[in-house]
Amino acid sequence: MEYIDKFRDPELVRGLLKRITAKVDSRVRIMEVCGTHTRAILKSGIKNLLSDNIELISGPGCPICVTSSGYIDAAVKLASKEEVIVATFGDMMRVPGNEISLHQAKASGCDIRVVYSPLDTVELAQQNPDSEVVFLALGFETTAPTIALNINQAAKLELQNYSILSSLKTMPGVMEKLAASDELNLDGFICPGHVSTIIGAEPFEFLAYQYNLPAVIAGFEPGDILLGLYQLLEMEAAGISRLKNQYSRVVKYRGNRQAIDRIYNIFTRTDAFWRGMGSIEDSGLRLKDEYRQFSARDKFGIQISNRKKPEGCICGEILRGIKKPVDCELFADSCTPESPIGPCMVSSEGACAAYYQYQ
Ligand code: SF4
Repeated sequence: MEYIDKFRDPELVRGLLKRITAKVDSRVRIMEVCGTHTRAILKSGIKNLLSDNIELISGPGCPICVTSSGYIDAAVKLASKEEVIVATFGDMMRVPGNEISLHQAKASGCDIRVVYSPLDTVELAQQNPDSEVVFLALGFETTAPTIALNINQAAKLELQNYSILSSLKTMPGVMEKLAASDELNLDGFICPGHVSTIIGAEPFEFLAYQYNLPAVIAGFEPGDILLGLYQLLEMEAAGISRLKNQYSRVVKYRGNRQAIDRIYNIFTRTDAFWRGMGSIEDSGLRLKDEYRQFSARDKFGIQISNRKKPEGCICGEILRGIKKPVDCELFADSCTPESPIGPCMVSSEGACAAYYQYQ
C-alpha cells in the first residue's frame, strides 16, 4: 500500500503536471487503450488539469463495449431454450441487444445467472446436471487464463453439460489496426496495464519499431498515468519511438509465462469481430479442436450476426477513437447509466459511463 501511495502523492502529481505542461508546445494526440485508464484519468481530474495541447483519446479496451449486439442476441436466444442456464458477469445484463437485453430476457422467464467469477460456472454445471450451462466468455488476456482453467476443470470432470460462448479477444491486433489507421493520426499510446501484466511488454514493441509510435505501459494511479504521459512527451520531443514500461512494479518484459501457457493450452487464435472496427485477423481466441465439445457455438449451432448497431449510438466511433462520448446526440439525454442505449454507457470500463460520471 505504501508503495502505491507514492503514486498518489499530490506533490508528485503537481510536479509532473508542471513538467508535462513545460514539455508540450504543440498539439499531441495520445490514446489510452484501456477502459480502466479512461476511468482513472477522468476520476482523478487529470484530463481537466492537462494543457489543451494534450488530447487524450479513449480506446477499445473495454471488453463488453467491443462485443457486438449480435453476440447479445445469440446469448438471449440461447437463454430462451428449454433447460439452458446462461451464466454471465453482471455488467452484461443491461447491454442492449438488437431486440432485448439479458436483463429483459431474465424478466421474461429465461434462466440467466450472474456470476462473480468464471470458476463459479463449472460448479453451476455440476449442481444442475439436467441443464446445459453456457458461460458468456468475454474479456481480454486478463480474463482468458481463468476461463482456460474452467475448461481444464470441465474436461477433468468430463462435464457434458458445460460450454462457453467465446468472445475472448487479444489486444496487440486491435492496437496494430489503430496504429495503422489514417483517420486517427496518433502521436503515441498508453498501453493497457492489466493486459500487459499477463502478456508482458514485448508484444507491444512493434508500435515503436513498425509504426514509429512511442508507447508507454502505465499503471492506474494518477502518478503512474502522468509519469507515463511525461515519458511519452519526452520521446516525442526527442523524436524517438520506443516502448517504455512505467508499470515495471507489476509488468515484466515477457509477462506471466504460466498464464500465457494456460491460455494457449486451451485456446488458439482466430479472427474476431470488434464493435466499430469489424473483423480483425487473429485478434480472438477460440477453443482448440480437442476442447470443441465445450464450444456453445458448435454445440448449439450458433451463428452471430454482427452488422447491426443501436440507432443513433456512436459507440463504434468512440471505440475507434474518432469520436468522444459528448459527440453523441443521445449522451446524457436519452442515454444514461440508468437507461443505456449502447454498451459504452453500461460497462464500468465504458467511456460514456466514465464521462457521464466524472466530466
Ligand atoms: Fe452509445 Fe449512449 Fe454512448 Fe451515445 S452515449 S455512444 S448511445 S452508449
